[in-house]
Amino acid sequence: MPIIKDIRTTIWEWVGPVAPLRQNFCTTASDIVSNTNDNMSGFRFLGWLVVEIETEDGIIGIGNSALAPHAVKALIDTQLAPMLIGQDAMDSEYLWQMMYRSTMAFGRKGIGMTAISALDLAIWDIRGKAVNLPVFRLLGGRTKEKLQVYASRLYSQPLDELAEEAQGYLDQGFTMMKLRAGWGPKDGAAGMKRNEELVATLRDVVGDEVDIMMDCYMGWSLEYAKEMLRRLAPYRLRWLEEPLIPDDIRGYAELRAMNIVPIAGGEHEFTPHGFRQLIEARAIDFAQFDTNRVGGITAANKIAHLCEAYDIAVMPHAGQMHNYHISLSTVAAPFAEYFPKVPVEVGNELFWYIFDGEPVAENGYINLCDNTPGLGLSLKTPSPEEFVLTR
Ligand SMILES: [Mg+2]
Repeated sequence: MPIIKDIRTTIWEWVGPVAPLRQNFCTTASDIVSNTNDNMSGFRFLGWLVVEIETEDGIIGIGNSALAPHAVKALIDTQLAPMLIGQDAMDSEYLWQMMYRSTMAFGRKGIGMTAISALDLAIWDIRGKAVNLPVFRLLGGRTKEKLQVYASRLYSQPLDELAEEAQGYLDQGFTMMKLRAGWGPKDGAAGMKRNEELVATLRDVVGDEVDIMMDCYMGWSLEYAKEMLRRLAPYRLRWLEEPLIPDDIRGYAELRAMNIVPIAGGEHEFTPHGFRQLIEARAIDFAQFDTNRVGGITAANKIAHLCEAYDIAVMPHAGQMHNYHISLSTVAAPFAEYFPKVPVEVGNELFWYIFDGEPVAENGYINLCDNTPGLGLSLKTPSPEEFVLTR
């Protein structure tokens, strides 16, 4: 029995070179308030939390989270880790419920659920290693031979550079890709035109047989999004992502009811209960939970089943190993996100620098190994020029 003996939390803070972000790199939820600071500051996160859970029989399970790592670390160290010591890691459902219910008064979503997610990932990593099976096989096994992925970057930039980046993804064999909106309500009609030019340029480069999607990172208002949907209709987006803040569920439902472009969201939603609300409100066509926020493998697997029953596509945020196990094992996930490895810019790409084992896309597909137990990640040896570690 893999009895939990020790839990170690480490913040990996990137201190190496960071690519400067140009203006209008991407819309954010902060765009609507006046902000004299760097407007991309709410978007950049250069520290990740790594959780290692060690069992009495010497198994080490690895989990991670990318949101507010210092706050998440404190919550794990002071509240959650003590209740896991001495428990059997095979009891993942019980442990999840215990963590969730004993932090109910202040946890539930946000930092509370992010901390539970990181621990649940490590617990599932142990479960797989204890029986020598990859996590996706514990979830029922692969539902597809390999997993198609879409290239996810294409931040707002000069149109010739956007075209060049998109052509690069075509050359690598991707047949789906996602770009970012650069302008929001404060930029008026001129910004709407800029956003439209981004989409028009991408459509022009990729032609009619490649799927394109647009991500607004919570940066638009309902009225603005309605007008943008009308303008973007001719370019046949596969989806429009997070046009509104996640709490505006009714707004999402209104946009979806326009039936112009499918609506994607949920990367900032938490738990099966949160997704039940989104689904019941008919707010989304694509459910984009991130397993390292939404409640770990335990919660993500339940949401995947819920989505299957409602015929909603599961499209976890960020790709990455913890999400690929879910995407591979559910029929509800037709394909998945993929962050190309690039020089460090916003933090999305940091997992490439922290972990070994992440699947690299080949010709627009990734795959997981049938014989690598657990989640299949290991930690790199950090160089002091790149990372400061806080334990
Ligand atoms: Mg997104």
